[in-house]
Amino acid sequence: MNYYDYIIVGSGIAGLYTALLAREQGSVLVITKGSIDDCNTKHAQGGIAAAIGKNDSPELHFQDTIAAGAGLCHEEAVRILANEAPDRISDLVNFGVPFDTVNGEIALTMEAAHSVPRILHAGGDATGEHIEVTLSSQAQSAKIQVLEDCLATEILIEKGAVKGVRALDCRTGSTEEFNCRYLILATGGAGQLFKFNTNSEVATGDGIALAFKAGAEIVDMEFFQFHPTALRLPGVTPFLISEAVRGEGGILRNVEGYRFMSDYAPEADLAPRDIVARSIVYETKKTGSDRVFIDVTHLPSRVTTTRFPHIYRFCLDHGLDITKGLVPVAPAAHYMMGGIKTNFWGETNIAGLFAAGETACTGVHGANRLASNSMLEVLVFSKRIMEKTRKGAKIEAATTSKIEETHYSLSQKQVPEVVPPPSFSALQELHWEKVGIIRNKESLIEAVNTLAGWQKSLPQPTDRPSYELNNLVLTGRLVTEAALIREESRGAHFRSDFPQSSAKWKRHIVFTAK
Ligand SMILES: Cc1cc2nc3c(=O)[nH]c(=O)nc-3n(C[C@H](O)[C@H](O)[C@H](O)COP(=O)(O)OP(=O)(O)OC[C@H]3O[C@@H](n4cnc5c(N)ncnc54)[C@H](O)[C@@H]3O)c2cc1C
Repeated sequence: MNYYDYIIVGSGIAGLYTALLAREQGSVLVITKGSIDDCNTKHAQGGIAAAIGKNDSPELHFQDTIAAGAGLCHEEAVRILANEAPDRISDLVNFGVPFDTVNGEIALTMEAAHSVPRILHAGGDATGEHIEVTLSSQAQSAKIQVLEDCLATEILIEKGAVKGVRALDCRTGSTEEFNCRYLILATGGAGQLFKFNTNSEVATGDGIALAFKAGAEIVDMEFFQFHPTALRLPGVTPFLISEAVRGEGGILRNVEGYRFMSDYAPEADLAPRDIVARSIVYETKKTGSDRVFIDVTHLPSRVTTTRFPHIYRFCLDHGLDITKGLVPVAPAAHYMMGGIKTNFWGETNIAGLFAAGETACTGVHGANRLASNSMLEVLVFSKRIMEKTRKGAKIEAATTSKIEETHYSLSQKQVPEVVPPPSFSALQELHWEKVGIIRNKESLIEAVNTLAGWQKSLPQPTDRPSYELNNLVLTGRLVTEAALIREESRGAHFRSDFPQSSAKWKRHIVFTAK
């Protein structure tokens, strides 16, 4: 069969959770470019936020999310997120996700910028892995058709509406068209733009590039979250040292052993991610080092090994016993707040095209994501896609954001005729150096020009790596041009030439191709 009610691109939490709900409503095909568990989801450590604790409430969760979002959250979307969180957690429990418990109750931990312990976790610090394994085994039991090694390369549009998707069979090199009523992009983020990142190798911005080329609106791309603490060891890919480590009492120290975070923020080690990431950059500049340290040696070693078994084991495998010695860390690109613009029902501006998960921008994160809100966002808004596409569903019109939007097209740069095509490592280096944690006009203009030249010089893609490079260059242009346009600092976007927020910039930057 070549026609489906739902085609879902991606098999992380967004793709699989959506597929499991969609099979109740019609025929479903999932296509995914690697094997089913190649995704960011399985790397998630800290957990999922939901106001289910005794001293918590959706109102408090709402307020913390709004505070982290630095003036750009869509308030109504955040209300939905906080209110619907407990029900979506029940869905995961019903699917069999084994959340950790204490005395028979779900255990909750603290993370930066949450005002109460609110984070559910599984296997200590292996939450994402448990979710991915549970959902993929449910998908298998439900006999959901999953095509692995199948790369979506183009969204097919007819008369302004989605008709299907073109895909490349990465094993044979042949292409095929699949038709559908609803196409749901669940393609994840774009952390591979940056030299230092915590993401899986699949995070190459494919959904953003595909949707943009099809005419979808792309919003908030300048807001890329840099996680403050990724392991920094020579020859080891940056491995996340979860925020929950500081939540449980871990302390940041510079190379001289000095506990520096209270010099930068009243919340000290538990300040929001962007503040901690920048403070680490300043501190490393001050001390002439490329790293700082997390210290958990004062915690009882049993707490460290039972609460963070995954981190403990990973570090031990690399010669570091974190119960006895300091953990070298530095910031790394982590999460894309922007994405394909959707309303409260996951709908884009193209009929039949939906987006879920990290590739989507529902407006809940604003300029800065509150830790552990991303997997929650997936659940809440994927469920809403299903409500919207249910036969005969009555849906109220989505409220539009009170925050203003300005629409742009990508700049038409005059670039030299012949520019050497980019390499993956040159692209990552460019973004890290010129579009990283601290940006300015000069660095961004250089990156904009380079990317525009690269885009013109790229040969026609033929295989997965060349499609991914094309997608990264286009996604990188959207990030970089948005960062150049936004002449202020807000949330995760920091401009050294405009270090303050400006009321004039309390608006979203939206790109469209047409
Ligand atoms: C190290 C790490 C720790 C994290 N910790 C947390 C946490 O504690 N709590 C939290 O809430 N969030 C956390 N996050 C963020 C969270 O994990 C992600 O935002 C979330 O899992 C994204 O889910 P997703 O389904 O949208 O994308 P992914 O899980 O990345 O899945 C994307 C899928 O799309 C497929 N795909 C992409 N392009 C194509 C294409 N062209 N064709 C076919 N298939 C394609 C991929 O192969 C993959 O299957 C963490 C992220 C990382 C990297």
